[in-house]
Amino acid sequence: MADLSSSNRNSREDWRPEAPIALAPINVWPLHISNITKWFFGFPGFLWPYNAFWLAVTISTWSYLTPELTTMANLELWWIGIILARNAALILILFGGLHLYLYVFKRQGEAHQFTTRPFATNNRKFLFKDQVADNMARTLFSAVPIITGYEVLTYWAFANGFLGFFDLGSSQLIFWAWFLILLILAPVIHAVHFYLGHRLLHTKLLYKKVHALHHHNVEIGPWSGLAMHPVEHIIYLSTLAVQWVLAAHPVNVLFQLQLAAFYPALAHCGFEKLKIGEKLKIDGGNHFHYLHHKYFECNYGGSLAPLDKWFGTFHDGTKEADQAMKNRIKKQREALR
Ligand SMILES: [Zn+2]
Ligand SMILES: [Zn+2]
Repeated sequence: MADLSSSNRNSREDWRPEAPIALAPINVWPLHISNITKWFFGFPGFLWPYNAFWLAVTISTWSYLTPELTTMANLELWWIGIILARNAALILILFGGLHLYLYVFKRQGEAHQFTTRPFATNNRKFLFKDQVADNMARTLFSAVPIITGYEVLTYWAFANGFLGFFDLGSSQLIFWAWFLILLILAPVIHAVHFYLGHRLLHTKLLYKKVHALHHHNVEIGPWSGLAMHPVEHIIYLSTLAVQWVLAAHPVNVLFQLQLAAFYPALAHCGFEKLKIGEKLKIDGGNHFHYLHHKYFECNYGGSLAPLDKWFGTFHDGTKEADQAMKNRIKKQREALR
């Protein structure tokens, strides 16, 4: 697709990508094997090249930035402090780096940017009346400690033998096969957990008091990704609990947790694709979730699992999908009368 200039924008400075959002090809029947293979292994296809990058981050974190498991059997401040500091550093590098790249140094200009409206300032909805400062504070002072809390609990439980049920006897082969299967399944576990947790956050019980805070961000940037109420952090990041039951190794849990911690930076970056150099364009599900921030009542999950399609809430970014969404909401309101 050609890069877009301001001439492609409407009067509100919005830009709509030409191609509708496609669900992952595993959702299209009959299955098309060559499309699936391309999507699974192609570069920079969504699934493995993208997630292999995060897996490399996880393995490096475990190998070089995490104390020995046996030393974490007792909850002690020194090692909890190390994990807190390295999580803060990783988030600062990733979220801060992406913000600097796209919004301060503007390295890709307006190419693929959904809207050129600026982030909110002088707005009472945000801490310090400033969207970026609010988003950073909520990420660094709520998300980072909660990510760390979950991680600390995991290592402590593994070191004490309370987790890691699936060591699968004495067979090394079965152990490592299970370890690999769980790594491959992690993005799918994330997609399903995110959809379910997000639907819960949109119920009357939780929307106003908890999730509305994340939706104050109508224009979104990398720091908006984890700008949430602490209760939402606890719910959203609890995806690692699936691995508490299944995991062969602490790396399985760490990968699941880091996917949840790191995906939102790109998914909220405000650009359809991240351009690095002239050729590399990375799509981290950005348009899909951007539409959720724009319209609220669609795209609760991601494009990997077909849950939005099954439950009738999928919006592919086209004008036809706008109309279908409006009709659906009208029907729901009429049914409530
Ligand atoms: Zn969001
Ligand atoms: Zn939402």
